[in-house]
Amino acid sequence: MMNIVVVGGGAGGLELVTKLGNKLGKNKKANVTLVDRNTSHVWKPLLHELATGAIDEGVDALSYSSHAKNHGFNFQLGTLCDVDTSSKFITLAPLIENSEVILPERKVDYDYLVLAIGSTSNDFNTPGVSENCIFLDSPSQAHKFRRKLFNSFMKIQGDLIESSVDVAIVGAGATGVELSAELYNVLQELKRYGFKDLTQKNLNVNLIEAGDRILPALPPRISSSVHNELSKLGVKVKTNTLIVKADSQGLYTKDGETIRADLMVWAAGIKGPDFLKEFKCFEINRINQIVVKPTLQTTTSDDVYVIGDVAQFTQENGKFVPPRAQSAHQMASTCYKNLMNRLKNKPQLNFIYKDQGSLVSLSRFSTVGNLMGNLTKGSMMIEGRIARIMYVSLYRMHQRALHGTFKTLLMMLVGKINKVLKPSVKLH
Ligand SMILES: Cc1cc2nc3c(=O)[nH]c(=O)nc-3n(C[C@H](O)[C@H](O)[C@H](O)COP(=O)(O)OP(=O)(O)OC[C@H]3O[C@@H](n4cnc5c(N)ncnc54)[C@H](O)[C@@H]3O)c2cc1C
Repeated sequence: MMNIVVVGGGAGGLELVTKLGNKLGKNKKANVTLVDRNTSHVWKPLLHELATGAIDEGVDALSYSSHAKNHGFNFQLGTLCDVDTSSKFITLAPLIENSEVILPERKVDYDYLVLAIGSTSNDFNTPGVSENCIFLDSPSQAHKFRRKLFNSFMKIQGDLIESSVDVAIVGAGATGVELSAELYNVLQELKRYGFKDLTQKNLNVNLIEAGDRILPALPPRISSSVHNELSKLGVKVKTNTLIVKADSQGLYTKDGETIRADLMVWAAGIKGPDFLKEFKCFEINRINQIVVKPTLQTTTSDDVYVIGDVAQFTQENGKFVPPRAQSAHQMASTCYKNLMNRLKNKPQLNFIYKDQGSLVSLSRFSTVGNLMGNLTKGSMMIEGRIARIMYVSLYRMHQRALHGTFKTLLMMLVGKINKVLKPSVKLH
């Protein structure tokens, strides 16, 4: 039987493998396998909410093994470390826990391989950043941030008149902006759970951007509206500020300013995983992404497809497809069609990216963004309740692609029930 292997069960890979499993795996038309280095999936755009305790991983994480059982694919826990495109197998690194080898190095054969291994934050080799800043790339980093944040609030409890928790966030793209606003939401929530004397003065958030405006990927009108909202909350937005060094005390700018911080988050740009640099079998760009053809196949092997953040896809207008959840979702859809066409000996389709617009959530304070489309004849700014509904619906679409409509509705119901049963921030 044909072996289809998808590596990376994130925004793109998990949607793809679910479809493949439902269509081919359940009917024994192909062996469909998902490989991921983690045992469960958390949708990456939720990580800033996980980091502030606004959501609970226990509720929002999806176990790969149980999802695989329900959708006709196999799950292998493992970290991809090599690909051999001539003999068509991938190598997974040994699985080691507390110096004990749980699983040795393994080889997994494929007929068709899909790489959907996402991206990591790009520190542009800035000295001290990898040692002192948190990258919100994974649930474990989000937990680390949450623990440090709550510990910092506990430390200042005895001296709320003089002390504050100082957070510096580098990069004012959607992640940095959303995290800044979420921190002020958490501050207010914590007052209900034993930190009743906290005030806005006890939180000091610096949002630092090298460019001349925040949210550079969005129209200037949205940037300035979000900038105003953040300033109202208390966030100190520093544009045209380039960070050249970090240490345990804080960040250092090119202009000689020191930004002291207890907690530092680096969210300035992305790159593909570093180990891809060593892969001789693919064309890799300078930020470690794999260059793909219009059909999402690699330029070096037609049997390997790449989707999501780790793909460098050049559109007809010469621009790269941006690293976003909607890009991964759309690529998963085209890749699915292309794999099905492969099996039926039909021609491959070219991927066409449709920018649906972007929405930025300032926690419960506001949601702002732009919608693109035929009806709006270009870009239309939206905000308020409609924007909030559309923002949430992006996650609902992902859940629907994984679980179908009925289960997604049940999950929404469980979410509402949990709002009554559980504290509104995860406290431990
Ligand atoms: C905090 C945050 C907020 C965001 N908010 C938004 C938003 O509001 N809207 C939006 O459109 N986008 C947002 N993004 C970007 C969006 O999350 C990504 O573009 C999207 O998740 C990319 O999907 P992907 O499938 O390529 O990779 P991912 O979703 O990152 O999945 C990659 C998967 O590969 C696995 N993996 C990685 N390396 C290996 C390996 N070597 N071996 C095995 N498995 C591996 C990982 O465990 C993971 O499961 C946000 C990102 C962050 C970090």
